[in-house]
Amino acid sequence: MILSEHLIELAYLIATSLFVLSLKWMSSPATARRGVWAGELGMLLAIVGTLLHKGIVDYKWIAIALVLGSIIGAALGRVQMTAVPQRTALSHAFGALCVTLVGTAEYYLQAPDVPPFKMAVLCAEVILGSLTFTGSLMAAGKLQEILPQRPITYKGANIVNLSLLAVSFGVAVFMVFHPEQTEIFHVLLAIPMLFGMLMIIPIGGADMPTVISLLNSYAGLSAAAMGFVLNNKLLIVAGALDGASGFILSVNMSKAMNRSFTNVLFGAFGQEQTKVAAGQEALPVKSATAEEAAVILAAANKVVVVPGYGMAVAQAQHKVRELYDALTKRGVDVAFGIHPVAGRMPGHMNVLLAEADIPYDKMLDMDEINGDFPQTDVALVIGANDVTNPAARSDPSSPIYGMPILDVDKARTVMVIKRGMSPGFAGIDNPLYYLDKTLMLFGDARSFVGDIVREVGGDHGA
Ligand code: NAP
Repeated sequence: MILSEHLIELAYLIATSLFVLSLKWMSSPATARRGVWAGELGMLLAIVGTLLHKGIVDYKWIAIALVLGSIIGAALGRVQMTAVPQRTALSHAFGALCVTLVGTAEYYLQAPDVPPFKMAVLCAEVILGSLTFTGSLMAAGKLQEILPQRPITYKGANIVNLSLLAVSFGVAVFMVFHPEQTEIFHVLLAIPMLFGMLMIIPIGGADMPTVISLLNSYAGLSAAAMGFVLNNKLLIVAGALDGASGFILSVNMSKAMNRSFTNVLFGAFGQEQTKVAAGQEALPVKSATAEEAAVILAAANKVVVVPGYGMAVAQAQHKVRELYDALTKRGVDVAFGIHPVAGRMPGHMNVLLAEADIPYDKMLDMDEINGDFPQTDVALVIGANDVTNPAARSDPSSPIYGMPILDVDKARTVMVIKRGMSPGFAGIDNPLYYLDKTLMLFGDARSFVGDIVREVGGDHGA
């Protein structure tokens, strides 16, 4: 083995270890930053190692691709935090397109003499790559609201989709035995691309983050298949890690919403409940001012803050930190209750609160905090809706029935900051708002929390 090959192997080995450590570190807010750095360093080493390959005879096109990719990547990196799910979907689309193109190039380089095993993994690579490419583009379009968010269904949609998938597998088996049929290879690209589009159309916007993490898993598996095709161990391991972690994340997200995978993929969630919300009459609610809210908060012994998507939209996390400081200075015990699917991506609330330097030990998961609500004086809900909806516990006809929620309605007083009575992402009404103990604090989360901070900081409630 010549020196450069040793160096490549070493770079790949270190990169692999860094990817594994990165995933481990990203599982806790305290070590997540280190996890991101480890992942980035691993990726840099993987690229440098690949560039050392003696098979590369000309760096011109690689340099052009690096510059183009860096420009697109830098632009994508600047999107708002709330747009990260669609940004992630776009990254998967690019990755999947790359995998599909590499697979196609490999096929045409070797055809007609492609050994059966290689042809089988090539087929897996291009099928998964093509469907992930169009599926991710559709998911990004739905989340960005370029495409309608509501599920679009038609009779027999699932049968059509599953038949398309079955045809792709049939064509793949044919290609394994007849790799010389280069014309048929096009079908292997076209049908999964169509399937990717049709697969996303019946899925509602509310399920899109779960689907994106599933597409992440497909992209990982297609990259692992590419690793077999190119005989590259790093790609196999990195793809497998990506595939497994994306799958575990999808399972956890489905569990947190009490949904099954099949229900997410075939259930057309988000259609019925919009109709229910539209048909309901307005019920009376009690509202309060920032001054009144400040008096109640300052007089409390224990406050649990429940942040949600609205806090992210309003970028209210720094004001929330000021409120935390003001209340703790007055001797109030303040904790944060984090629902696993609050916001629009896993860990959304943890990231925002960590950015505002809220101590990690004050951020408690749903299971840890739920037992505390009966002893809590005030549950302060900031821009959260679905994750606090008691109908999930009590109303078997609710579309979110069975989804675990934060039991804020068990606190002595509930205060909810939101701009109006609009429903959350699931599109359903929230009975929490009509309880006797609930006070609605209508306004933008950032300015309303800012107003409360000013009041708490003053003489009120002292
Ligand atoms: P949500 O149910 O979507 O509700 C967010 C609320 O924030 C809305 O009712 C909205 O009411 C309010 N809001 C919006 N902008 C605001 C602003 N500037 N100031 C104050 N309030 C504002 O959010 P959630 O409780 O966090 O629940 C997350 C939802 O996303 C769940 O349905 C979950 O299943 C779904 N989901 C999440 C993930 C994930 O990974 N996190 C994945 C899949 C699905 P107004 O318009 O009246 O202000």
